[in-house]
Amino acid sequence: MSNASRHMATFLSVREVTGPGFAALVHPEWAIAFPWLIQGTTTRVSGNDHPFDLGLFAKGSEPRSARGRWQTLRRYVGADSVVHAQQVHGADVRVCDASSPAECVDGPHLVAACDGHATGTPGVVVAVTVADCVPVFLVDPGRRAVAAVHAGWRGVAAGILERGMQVLHASFGSRPEDLHVHLGPAICGACYEVGPEVFEALDQSVPAGPTPIDLRRVLGERAALTGVRPATITVSEHCTSCTDSELFSHRAGDGGRQAGYIGVRR
Ligand SMILES: [Zn+2]
Repeated sequence: MSNASRHMATFLSVREVTGPGFAALVHPEWAIAFPWLIQGTTTRVSGNDHPFDLGLFAKGSEPRSARGRWQTLRRYVGADSVVHAQQVHGADVRVCDASSPAECVDGPHLVAACDGHATGTPGVVVAVTVADCVPVFLVDPGRRAVAAVHAGWRGVAAGILERGMQVLHASFGSRPEDLHVHLGPAICGACYEVGPEVFEALDQSVPAGPTPIDLRRVLGERAALTGVRPATITVSEHCTSCTDSELFSHRAGDGGRQAGYIGVRR
């Protein structure tokens, strides 16, 4: 085990039911340390017969019903707009600033396809959708700049985490040592078995056959290598497969998606 992963603290994201029909897993320490921050990952809990599926591009709900749930998310977190995009397992991260169109307040503000978003505008929440992949949350508390990136193994290999950090630096001046990084609810290192080609793509020692990999460990190590202080890197204990967390899992055959969201309160 490397220094980076040994020092990574693990936090249990608590379920905070913020209203009927909406439940999210939030970072308990951030909720206390950064009261100006909006952050969480939605769960399947919806309070009715339909799970809280936010997938607009997956094989779950009708897009129209999913759009209604994005409105529910926006309302419960107190955002003016929620910014999202179709994700392509790439490494593009877009900045959403004060020019985010006001007409998007009633639904997800869809921007061009990308796998991450950054913002420093109060009231603007940025979101990625996941179902096994890692929602990565980046916070620069001093500058109140935040980002969320969608990190599956292809995105990690393409450098999505490092790109998110670069965009925060270019747009807000955030340095790696200023950042707090949370690796949110995702499939865990015991449940995520992948082929040798994935280990190879991620610069890990390559096993002979299918072997489990801990994508959040890999991400934490990459964050630390890039200069994030290990003490500010945290990992959710929730797994989309083996913990009782009410999360969608693509590998389990779910067509639905939860959203990892982050923003600055107005
Ligand atoms: Zn697991």
